[in-house]
Amino acid sequence: MASSILSDCSSARLLPLSRTLLPPLPHRLRPSPALAFPRRLFVASPAQLLSRPRRMDSVLAAGSSADSADTSSKVIDGKLVAKQIREEIAVEIARMKDAIGVVPGLAVILVGSRKDSQTYVRNKKKACEAVGIKSYEVNLPEDSSEEEVIKHIASFNSDPSVHGILVQLPLPRHMNDENILNAVSIEKDVDGFHPLNIGRLAMQGRDPFFVPCTPKGCMELLRRYGVEVKGKRAVVIGRSNIVGMPAALLLQKANATVSIVHSQTKNPEEITRQADIVIAAVGVANLVRGNWIKPGAAIIDVGINPVDDPESPRGYRLVGDVCYEEASKVAGAITPVPGGVGPMTIAMLLSNTLESAKRIHKFK
Ligand code: NAP
Repeated sequence: MASSILSDCSSARLLPLSRTLLPPLPHRLRPSPALAFPRRLFVASPAQLLSRPRRMDSVLAAGSSADSADTSSKVIDGKLVAKQIREEIAVEIARMKDAIGVVPGLAVILVGSRKDSQTYVRNKKKACEAVGIKSYEVNLPEDSSEEEVIKHIASFNSDPSVHGILVQLPLPRHMNDENILNAVSIEKDVDGFHPLNIGRLAMQGRDPFFVPCTPKGCMELLRRYGVEVKGKRAVVIGRSNIVGMPAALLLQKANATVSIVHSQTKNPEEITRQADIVIAAVGVANLVRGNWIKPGAAIIDVGINPVDDPESPRGYRLVGDVCYEEASKVAGAITPVPGGVGPMTIAMLLSNTLESAKRIHKFK
């Protein structure tokens, strides 16, 4: 059994995204019941886990698994947590509307007609509507100039009914992402990608206006599942501007001792094996094997990788950067893919937009 599982992770063939025609995040993250809730794992809700402090202590005590008969991990259910968060946001927005007559507004600028970007924008709009956020949308043709995009950003920057501005990426090749993203007011930069927001995140004693959504979602999962971060060893695999790097900064801010593993790291297994908490954001299917993981560690798998699966009606399935079958036997808690970090990203976008409206209107 073990060897067939091993060969499953070793043989998974990564497909080019274009071949799979994946709908964009977070739409493509609907958990397949089989993957999200394998029978041998039981799913504990955040509340259940919090009511079992001894078990979560043991998750991070990260001692030998041999002294425990229960060798399967707790599933960190991002879909469930994201739903709870969306419900909390809806309640807060209703309270704000009642108290001061204001609802948060999110503006999305889409340039070009990429199908995946259009779907992503549509999903954001739906998610906004469901919680009571007003959405604004500008669709510009592919051949628009940088100046035109910046003109729209400037108009949203000064519009008091807009509290968050998001420029859908990727932008057409002739545009300079940096010039465009820098034009977004840092006070409305709900994606948290503005260099000033990242700089504040990195500095001691400073706080950014916004934290990028995916790493914020990872931290929220750890928090809601009662995983202690302070004083723990954490490894982040990947150092991208949108996930790995801010995730490492957040873990450090939460007083973990953090190492970053990247494509040039010589001994990634050895370094990862020391971690009580692992955040993997690489984009390589099943890179992290069971033997990379310290028994009892908490694993947050950000990766979304389509791999060949002739048995699936679509011919592919989504897997993470972590070999789930192996890792779930060693880890104390683990996010599935799909159904882990993915649903959290949009929930954090809504959360950032609400936070912005509250700050701008000084609403407690
Ligand atoms: P990215 O920009 O391509 O960055 C990948 C990072 O992984 C880089 O820092 C790279 O190192 C590192 N890396 C590549 N191969 C490696 C290896 N063999 N060993 C160790 N490190 C390696 O990717 P990203 O945008 O951060 O996304 C990462 C994954 O997360 C993707 O699967 C993406 O689809 C997924 N994602 C999910 C969500 C969500 O909401 N769930 C959101 C964003 C992204 P170098 O810096 O040395 O090149």
